[in-house]
Amino acid sequence: MFEFTAKDKYRKIREGTDEVSFSYLANYVSVDLDKRELAIAVDDHFIDIEEKLDEDEKPEDWEHPLLPQAGMVVTSPVGEQLIEFCEADIEQHMKFTLSMMSIFSKEEKKTEQKDQYLHYYDNYEYFAGIAEDVMRSNLYVHIFPPLIYKRSLEMCKAYFLYLRSLQKEYRQLLDFCFNADFYKEELAGITAASRFTLYCEVAPVAPIRSMNISFRFLRSGFGNASMPVRDKQAYEEFKKNPAKKLQIQKREPNAFEQRFNINPIQTELARIMPVPIVSSYRCQSLDEILYLEFEKMLELDMQIKRCKNCNRYFILKGNYQTEYCDRIPDGETQNCQAISATAKYAQKVKDNPALAIFNKSYKRYHARLKVGSVKPDAFKKWKYEAVMMRDRCLDEEVTVEEFTAWIDGYFG
Ligand SMILES: [Zn+2]
Repeated sequence: MFEFTAKDKYRKIREGTDEVSFSYLANYVSVDLDKRELAIAVDDHFIDIEEKLDEDEKPEDWEHPLLPQAGMVVTSPVGEQLIEFCEADIEQHMKFTLSMMSIFSKEEKKTEQKDQYLHYYDNYEYFAGIAEDVMRSNLYVHIFPPLIYKRSLEMCKAYFLYLRSLQKEYRQLLDFCFNADFYKEELAGITAASRFTLYCEVAPVAPIRSMNISFRFLRSGFGNASMPVRDKQAYEEFKKNPAKKLQIQKREPNAFEQRFNINPIQTELARIMPVPIVSSYRCQSLDEILYLEFEKMLELDMQIKRCKNCNRYFILKGNYQTEYCDRIPDGETQNCQAISATAKYAQKVKDNPALAIFNKSYKRYHARLKVGSVKPDAFKKWKYEAVMMRDRCLDEEVTVEEFTAWIDGYFG
């Protein structure tokens, strides 16, 4: 698994080509480490374009055909989407897309668009039509579409090489930094972040990215830093009854408000309402969101494991040690933990001799019932008690020896 890509090859794959860039949309990501949650505000560029294309009124449930999440905020627990990306079966879908692309690209027309964005949109619409399964295989792949300058098989190959290379790298990183079973004894007591420094020692290229952080002050919406209030009493009163408080504060503008043409309510709001600061990361590519999430996983010192039932990674919660995840595999009705518990019980029953002991004595006493040496009522009573004893033995409340002695001694 650990075959590192040589430095120059790695860079070349990630850079993009004349025909495609991997950096386009600016999705803003806020992180709440206490809640262990990422909130991604998905860029709405494509909505603008769609509106330019179609002036007609759209139905209320209108969905963006290419990017249904455009303009929305998508939240997800830290680590989950990165794991999803690593485990997505993109490769399978790529093969199909490449075969389709090689047919279609022969008929490619050179589009002459005056509007640059329309040109990108057109190209993406074309590409997404063919590569739909790849684009929808994972949320991150979907909300960070490539910026296509020219539609071609080469462009498609370059993009897929990029996806493959990212998947390979983050699969290695997940294993190396977070997998609790990866060199379990050798790496015991070493944090995820320290494991990453070891990774950087051995990998020719480490996925260090720089990202832009933006800060905004928002009166509404969620902030990720609590801010001080000077007039605490006024704030408490305001929280109890916002509407009433605002009524009271209706007054004539003071000198400051007259000078700057500010509504008195604004000044009063500023006095009593703390404005939370919202910091978010401006992610423009799949690389960036993956690295951001990876870095947050390091900060949280997360641990993951491969589920012993479905073989997919899952996040370990707290100190609770388990070998199974709580996902429900396809075609099942129970999650992996329940499936394993049922299987363990079935195995325990199989290994426990109580069933065989019961069946053997059932045959013996039933024969005695037939010849009349055991009366029907006595047999019925025995059967009832024996079933109870058998189940107590399966539950390990009664030992096999005790059960055998009880059954053999019943009719003397
Ligand atoms: Zn599982």
